[in-house]
Amino acid sequence: METAFWHPQALMSQVKNDEIVLERGEGSHVWTDDGRKLFDATAGLWYANIGHGDQRITDAVVRQMNQLETFHAFGNFATPITKALCERIVSLAPLGDDAKVFLASGGSDAIDTAAKLARRYFTAAGEPNRRILVSREYGYHGLHGFGTSLGWLQPNREGYGELDPDIIRASATDADEVEKLFMNTGPELIAAFFCEPIIGAGGAIFPGEEYLSKVRELCRQHGILFIADEVITGFGRTGPWFASERFDLQPDMITFAKGVTSGYLPVGGVVISQRVCEPFWADGSNEWFKHGMTYSGHSTCAAAAMANLDVIEADGLLDRVRELEPKLDEALQSLADHPNVAEIRSGTGLVGAVVVDTAEAGQGLYEGLMANGVISRKLGDGRALQYSPPFVMTDDELAWLTEQTRAALDTL
Ligand code: PMP
Repeated sequence: METAFWHPQALMSQVKNDEIVLERGEGSHVWTDDGRKLFDATAGLWYANIGHGDQRITDAVVRQMNQLETFHAFGNFATPITKALCERIVSLAPLGDDAKVFLASGGSDAIDTAAKLARRYFTAAGEPNRRILVSREYGYHGLHGFGTSLGWLQPNREGYGELDPDIIRASATDADEVEKLFMNTGPELIAAFFCEPIIGAGGAIFPGEEYLSKVRELCRQHGILFIADEVITGFGRTGPWFASERFDLQPDMITFAKGVTSGYLPVGGVVISQRVCEPFWADGSNEWFKHGMTYSGHSTCAAAAMANLDVIEADGLLDRVRELEPKLDEALQSLADHPNVAEIRSGTGLVGAVVVDTAEAGQGLYEGLMANGVISRKLGDGRALQYSPPFVMTDDELAWLTEQTRAALDTL
């Protein structure tokens, strides 16, 4: 029967009669309603970092629900769990002890918050001409208003009329091109540069440390805010809590979501450095960031996030990511000389892609993997298949995943 569920990012004319209905999850696996066991090679949409079905999250959520499910935080209301979560995120993020956290319900919320705050910061700081936002080709920053304008995957931009005209596109890998763009635009008109440390949805593309450090320095020279979009990389996917730490990015803001709860409940947000907070938080200031959502700081969602961070710490999952990084790299690289493989992208954290020659081959590989019990996902131009497993993947599961991938490549 035709579904009533309009799926996100789906061609409903096909999906309406072809849903994959998942009923249960445990660790790195999920089970369909007809009993098939599938390996979650992508950790859902890069979020199921601690794996599925962890009872410790359930318990924490039930405890909070029994006490106070939530109360809104507009104005001066707060709950203890939400305050504690913000303090903890400040202590984990590499922005200093005087950073602050603005909470929201997901990555798109986080991005739109950061984009508005970047412009609002400069009006509050007496530089109202700084309005331009810069983001990178292949970049993905969610699909709210600002995110749609900041992302450069073309199909996501079409059919909405003119997008934000003060958002411009930069090279994703060439820092000299970024410098030229800044100079041609007038760096004094640029408010912020949005940067995924590793481009995720655009194809698992790592720009190289030289690009990151050079662009970071350019932004600093010209007073441009550097915003690290860590919706994918935040909370451990590259080893440390944040990729900004690994690559010494010292961002002015970090956007996060996904891994903060491992997807158990929706949370996103922005970690905001002292520089950006100052005009709003200074004693006597009348500057007010007129922004927020009903569920900004939702207490039960915060409880899920706290429990998730507890699990990551108690189970040593950041160490496990560091241990798995070279293993995943080696496993994927072992497929590099397969005749149907065009390229392997891997080597930084638990982010990888097997790239084939055409989008049709990408679809074929996706279907072959699914037939073998592996959920992957096509990224970017459809040629790259995503490998971003849960941090709890075992060595045996990785070996099995590699075998299934080779078998699916063989039958292409
Ligand atoms: N930024 C990045 C880098 C992302 O990967 C995503 C989601 N894949 C988003 C923002 C948007 O997050 P959400 O889908 O939770 O709104």
